[in-house]
Amino acid sequence: MAVNVIKEKCRGCTICVKNCPFEAITMENKLAVIGTACTGCGVCVEKCPFDAIEKSEESKDTVDLSEYRDVWVFAEQREGALMPVVKELLGEGRKLADKIGCSLCSVLCGNHVEGLADELFEYGADKVYLANHKELESYRTDAYTAVIHDAIKSYKPEIVLLGATHIGRDLGPCLAVRCNTGLTADCTKLEIDEVDKKIKQTRPAFGGNLMATIVCPNHRPQMSTVRPGVMEKAEKQEGRKGEIISLSVSFEKDDIRTRILEVVKEAGEAVSLTDAEIIVSGGMGLGGAEGFELLKKLADKLGGVVAASRAAVDAGWIDHSYQVGQTGTTVRPKLYFACGISGAIQHVAGMQNSEQIIAINKNPAAPIFEVADYGIVGDYNQVIPALIEALDK
Ligand SMILES: Cc1cc2nc3c(=O)[nH]c(=O)nc-3n(C[C@H](O)[C@H](O)[C@H](O)COP(=O)(O)OP(=O)(O)OC[C@H]3O[C@@H](n4cnc5c(N)ncnc54)[C@H](O)[C@@H]3O)c2cc1C
Ligand code: SF4
Ligand code: SF4
Repeated sequence: MAVNVIKEKCRGCTICVKNCPFEAITMENKLAVIGTACTGCGVCVEKCPFDAIEKSEESKDTVDLSEYRDVWVFAEQREGALMPVVKELLGEGRKLADKIGCSLCSVLCGNHVEGLADELFEYGADKVYLANHKELESYRTDAYTAVIHDAIKSYKPEIVLLGATHIGRDLGPCLAVRCNTGLTADCTKLEIDEVDKKIKQTRPAFGGNLMATIVCPNHRPQMSTVRPGVMEKAEKQEGRKGEIISLSVSFEKDDIRTRILEVVKEAGEAVSLTDAEIIVSGGMGLGGAEGFELLKKLADKLGGVVAASRAAVDAGWIDHSYQVGQTGTTVRPKLYFACGISGAIQHVAGMQNSEQIIAINKNPAAPIFEVADYGIVGDYNQVIPALIEALDK
């Protein structure tokens, strides 16, 4: 979208200057001038009382869509270990690649991370684009963006998937802007249109009240960040092999503007809800932080972890990193205990794909029983100790 001032109509009232959210308009010789910070949002067009600003469609992009092939998954690694979401992306990426009839590839950046390529092959990647460099050891926006953007230019993937982790959410938009393409953030569902083979990307919007399905018709690659924990992990195929394509990496002195001084790990980061097979989750019904101590006893007995509803987190009983739900973590364990959790849609959105759900709630009418496989109506203070006792026997 291009935005232009029609000089003959501009009266120099400065209304547009005050209204531009990006401070992109200045006044020169009593005429509005639109600068390079303009994002084409169109606010000034609406605000100018004299219709002196017009918006025009830029000429249609001339991207040759047929040049783009393959589905790419960003192999996010931290300290030389793949993030769990990568296996989920490979699982989903394989389905998309099969539907389109193309290869599933992975792009891996780091320092001495070539060993991870085998793991990527075993989880379904046909090819791994590998960038090894000491400057890529830890994630930094400039370095990763430069390397992956170069790879995208050279090898032209049709689809690029990233986990919607802190890193993926930072890297995705930087790459999309460099590639001048579309990105849908935080997707919970991806499908291929049977007719035109384009990807339909669905994500919750407006606090989950609306599911938006978004397509990127004229630009490539089609990019999505995908919410961790939503897609099924790829099955491991022991000994499966693939092709490694090394990317040449070189950096000039000022290419990377950020330096990592220290990485501080909060205790909360140790919680890996997405990996847990058994989760014992508590909500407002626990009545206080000490309720989680009882839940922890049950979780320890079962080899699981504790989690919480947002209400319990908001009450300050437990850290946010334990929160399950739409604004917390999405989980799909084998067994999910919901203790003193009412079953609000925002909570259920984050745990409904659990294999088995056991609800413990005083109120038989609580909506959590609608998604539960087994329900116990009762006070958790009595039910959980009884469960622990039964397990001890
Ligand atoms: C935009 C938005 C995003 C949100 N995101 C999330 C999210 O990510 N995750 C999330 O969880 N919520 C989220 N919420 C909040 C959500 O709407 C609910 O408010 C929240 O899930 C309620 O938490 P709760 O079930 O613990 O508490 P409550 O709804 O208060 O339920 C407590 C339950 O405990 C039962 N109970 C009481 N005493 C006992 C007892 N002794 N033994 C057994 N049962 C007992 C009660 O019968 C009741 O059913 C979000 C809300 C909004 C608006
Ligand atoms: S289109 Fe938006 S960003 Fe551009 S000048 Fe107008 S108000 Fe500012
Ligand atoms: S609002 Fe319209 S008339 Fe006023 S300065 Fe901006 S372009 Fe000119």
